[in-house]
Amino acid sequence: MKVAKFGGSSVASAEQIRKVASIIEEDRSRKIVVVSAPGKRNSEDTKVTDLLIALGETMLSQGHAEKELQAVVKRYESIAKGLELAPDIIETIENDLKERVSFDRSHPGKYMDQMKASGEDNNAKLIAAYFASKGMEAHYVNPKEAGLLVSDEPGNAQVLPESYDYLAKLRERSGVLVFPGFFGYSKEGTLVTFPRGGSDITGSILAAGIDAELYENFTDVDSVFCANPNVVENPCEIKKMTYREMRELSYAGFSVFHDEALIPAFRKSIPVCVKNTNNPQASGTMIIAERECFVNPVIGIAADSGFCTVFVRKYLMNREIGFGRKLLQIIEDEGISYEHMPSGIDDTSVILHQAQLDDEKEQRMIARIQEELDVDDVYVERDFAMIMIVGEGMHNTVGIASRATSALSKAGVNIEMINQGSSEVSLVFGIHQQDADEAVRSLYEEFFGSSNGSLE
Ligand code: ASP
Repeated sequence: MKVAKFGGSSVASAEQIRKVASIIEEDRSRKIVVVSAPGKRNSEDTKVTDLLIALGETMLSQGHAEKELQAVVKRYESIAKGLELAPDIIETIENDLKERVSFDRSHPGKYMDQMKASGEDNNAKLIAAYFASKGMEAHYVNPKEAGLLVSDEPGNAQVLPESYDYLAKLRERSGVLVFPGFFGYSKEGTLVTFPRGGSDITGSILAAGIDAELYENFTDVDSVFCANPNVVENPCEIKKMTYREMRELSYAGFSVFHDEALIPAFRKSIPVCVKNTNNPQASGTMIIAERECFVNPVIGIAADSGFCTVFVRKYLMNREIGFGRKLLQIIEDEGISYEHMPSGIDDTSVILHQAQLDDEKEQRMIARIQEELDVDDVYVERDFAMIMIVGEGMHNTVGIASRATSALSKAGVNIEMINQGSSEVSLVFGIHQQDADEAVRSLYEEFFGSSNGSLE
């Protein structure tokens, strides 16, 4: 049995949903179909999830939002018409939305979650209806009824371990099961969504739950590329990579996969395959537990921007017991998480996503660091990018860091920070944001310049 998840662009229009149906008809071991909400049909389009966020926010601020509600209904209407479905499905969707907008608004996080989740939920109903109209035995499955239980943290759900036993029972059901991605239910029965892009997480949980032989993740590219194709011309395709490599690259800016999605599949050693809905014949990228790394110690180069560093200097910092803990405590008190913390003898930098640090928080944090830690200097610098070189083969290959720093120096990119995790599966360079594209291109040239288009 396989689980096949289809992302937003794969279910954005009637034409795309027809492709999904043929993919399922072609291989009946695709037992569970996990669907996103309709995504963008072209670069100017708006995702249904974003339309729903606008609808929810307008309701919260103004108490009515007829125009926003109709914008959502219209998207489904055009899909249903294109698929020649009977009009009652649109009635069902419109009634469902009307019911949701009138829910209790006293807890905005919960209110927004049930609004956002309707994108996937209604799409799953619509797609199940379409499959049935084609004579397939297909059933919509609600995550509550199936037992997908999650923690009660709006917009940031985590699966609860008991879910897996409930979900295993889906194996016994007949027909194709169409399951909405992106949300589950708390033990108290409240709907809670995963973070954005979280339908990937649902797919992975279901694959683990039914012990699938394969988790297929259908998107709109033939494979995962080893660098961003908007930055590097014709980057190599990755044919095989490990879970850890994918996780690191997703964390650092690869948008193919949600970075938390692999863990449930990984724990059960279920292989994951990234495939293209528009070209399902292409073999795609296999994500597995291990690979031979002799030929390509490095598998990919990612870049993510929007970081800042909190730089702190204090003479004899290295001898002061508890300095690091106190510094991190001040940051924690502002509700901020940190990404890296490279340190010297008398100085340390804490690297954060800068969106978490507004001016007010920054001033409060700096004042506390100055007063409570009695430092010689403290300041925040913004607009950094983190460039990450990823590859399982790096830890037993000599010279990767040296090749990387030479390539960056030849390109005139100033390195502000280097961090190599103890796993040695990645090497991170902090640089100024404006140099990010140039840095990626120079590293690509160094590590993949002579390869023939695909990485085994
Ligand atoms: N529709 C949700 C989003 O846009 C979840 C997903 O597509 O994975 O974030």
